Amino acid sequence: MKYTPTIGLEIHVQLATKSKMFCRCDNDAENKEPNTVVCPLCMGFPGVLPVTNEIAVEWGVKTALALGCEINKFQRFDRKNYFYPDLPKAYQISQFYFPVGEHGKVKVDYLAPDRKTKKEFEVGITRLHLEEDAGKSIHDKDATLVDYNRCGTPLAEIVTEPDISSPEEARAFLQELQRIVRGLGVSHADMEKGQLRVDANISVRPEGQKEFGTKVEVKNMNSFKFIEQALNHEMERQIKILEDGGKIDQETRGWDEKTSTTISQRGKEGSIDYRYFPEPDLPPIVLDDKQIGEWQKVLSAVLPSDLRNQAEGYGLSYDRVCELQDKNELLGFVETMKSSKDLDASLVANFPGLDVEFYKWASKEKPSNTVLRKVSEAVIKGEDLEKAISEIKVMGEDEAKNIVEEVLQANNEAVEQFKSGESKVLGFLTGQVMAKSKGQADPALVQQILQELLTK
Ligand SMILES: [Zn+2]
Repeated sequence: MKYTPTIGLEIHVQLATKSKMFCRCDNDAENKEPNTVVCPLCMGFPGVLPVTNEIAVEWGVKTALALGCEINKFQRFDRKNYFYPDLPKAYQISQFYFPVGEHGKVKVDYLAPDRKTKKEFEVGITRLHLEEDAGKSIHDKDATLVDYNRCGTPLAEIVTEPDISSPEEARAFLQELQRIVRGLGVSHADMEKGQLRVDANISVRPEGQKEFGTKVEVKNMNSFKFIEQALNHEMERQIKILEDGGKIDQETRGWDEKTSTTISQRGKEGSIDYRYFPEPDLPPIVLDDKQIGEWQKVLSAVLPSDLRNQAEGYGLSYDRVCELQDKNELLGFVETMKSSKDLDASLVANFPGLDVEFYKWASKEKPSNTVLRKVSEAVIKGEDLEKAISEIKVMGEDEAKNIVEEVLQANNEAVEQFKSGESKVLGFLTGQVMAKSKGQADPALVQQILQELLTK
């Protein structure tokens, strides 16, 4: 029997605002001593008054818009009551009844592992809401220590519909989400640093069956690779239980890197009553269409799917587009192409990060790759473009031909080998000519002359 997996994700994205969600504390706790970027507010002292960080609200809305959500013009914070050692207030300020956005949809296209095929799918976004992060418990040999630095860091929590139908798709969606929040400049989204944290729900069901199987939640995955591995492992584990006639327990499991397996952490809990109620210390957030429209405007310039479409529109192949994206060169490529007409797209893609004058010159003059490489290297070193062009000499055809003839005379054996069908000696001969010309000949031209003379 064949089985289909069903995957839904819950993602916490740390927003990289300057200050925390409800106080003025520094929001960047990296490389800081524990419990040094805290104040009475984020430490949960009684009697303090929180103030909403406007930038966090703006970034929450922009992210929700980028995920195709409908934005709630009326948003409100609620208290989620629970006790945890690293949550000193014993409640978390979150948004339960009126989140930032709901009913979103993200179209994801990605390059399949064969590095050629373009694959596409859609993921529904249930909701995006803002909340504050908790502190960190550090479990030592004989004690548990608490670091409150992270308390009050703004988080955007994103919940997807169970629309994802393979571990590969889960990874592709999360990578796209990372590009989206990085493109917007709202989060560094570094998984290893906990700036993008993922919990995945996964169930399997026999192909053709309508009802979902029992879902298992998988936690503790801190890289895209581990997420894919953990979900693949969990899928196989569940299928094996069903094939053996067993039943799946609804539970939470953690990914264990060392053994590459998921391990049961806790069984099914009754649904916890967090006793949500409106946060009495914060006024609701009220937005109008004009404000939302302005935030919407910035999106098309930074959305990864739009950038990919535009780059394909300039004539690059999809796999080349994805290559540029992986090297963080896609935005620069699109901006350069937009900045001037008649630029050669493959030239701009092959020599990234240069001034538009370089591309204009190269698109017009069409110099050999050797010259392009030399001029671009000189310009990167800070040399003036005009000066670099005039200084880099390229050997003319006659001079190159003389050297080729000399090399052929000195390498009778290689010439005979070529004539008896060993075409690979051409590479050796080209190398000899290039060395003799001290790199000043154009290799494409040299090969062309070699071919001519050898087949004469
Ligand atoms: Zn604080």
